Amino acid sequence: MDSRNRKRKKEAEALDREVKLALERVKYKVLVLSGKGGVGKSTVATNLALTLAEAGRRVGLLDVDLHGPSIPTLLGLTGKRARFVDDRIMPIQHAENLKVISMGNLLRGRDDAVIWRGPLKMKAITQLIGGVEWGDLDYLVVDSPPGTGDEPLSIAQLIPGAHAVVVTTPQEISLSDVRKSVGFCNEVGLKLIGLIENMSGYVCPNCGHRDDIFGTGGGERTASQLSLRLLGKIPIDSGVVRAGDSGLPRLSKTEESPAAEAFRRVVDAIRSVLENDASAPDRALVEADRAKNE
Ligand code: ADP
Repeated sequence: MDSRNRKRKKEAEALDREVKLALERVKYKVLVLSGKGGVGKSTVATNLALTLAEAGRRVGLLDVDLHGPSIPTLLGLTGKRARFVDDRIMPIQHAENLKVISMGNLLRGRDDAVIWRGPLKMKAITQLIGGVEWGDLDYLVVDSPPGTGDEPLSIAQLIPGAHAVVVTTPQEISLSDVRKSVGFCNEVGLKLIGLIENMSGYVCPNCGHRDDIFGTGGGERTASQLSLRLLGKIPIDSGVVRAGDSGLPRLSKTEESPAAEAFRRVVDAIRSVLENDASAPDRALVEADRAKNE
């Protein structure tokens, strides 16, 4: 082995050690996956992190989407640069229990186009996962790139023993991608907690009429075919879009919109699976039962 290769090997080993050390202090790692883009994966990851933090958990939100990091926009952190201390990335303290880091906070400008060559991309992913000084966390919520390609694969391999949730819309085209995501989880050893159906119908705030724009029942059908838990169904809500665009996704404790209630139900379900916490009732199963009886 020549000296350049030896140096590379040493660097890679040091990074692997960093990843291991950084993740040792995190109780639950939850990867948010989707078969394809545009189904609301980042929105779900952000609101999961916020809702978990509101429930008193210490939460880190990590956006590993190198090509389209959207968490800074969703949380109003665009243009905010992360600090470095001794070569370690300091996450941004967004709320009392919520720290955040996104590739968007490490780039110079919000519109910087980054063309990642293969090895550099993998190095950036490893640094994002191992290089952040999170401290002790109850949950690390990872907004993973969509699909089942090299990037989500590297992330899954770097976080062994992680859990995953898959986000889909009720459309058949998204649901066929869910099957691929489930196969991906099985292959890479991710522990799949369940499926989240997003953009699940629209209820007119004026007249209360419900329109199932993307179809209906697809989430239940797919969950039952694949023996998955349906963690919840989040309706289309113009408040979600407005909140995301303004960087204030405050589906807070006190908000009573159907979307906020659905997010809380998803978090209850995730907590009941992971923490086996009797105080967080498994409303996902109640939801699935209700759907069966409809
Ligand atoms: P992805 O991460 O899967 O690409 P995003 O989270 O960026 O998707 O969401 C794509 C768009 O859909 C955003 O404009 C977002 O505000 C919107 N969106 C996501 N979920 C909902 C929802 N439940 N109701 C209304 N709009 C939503």
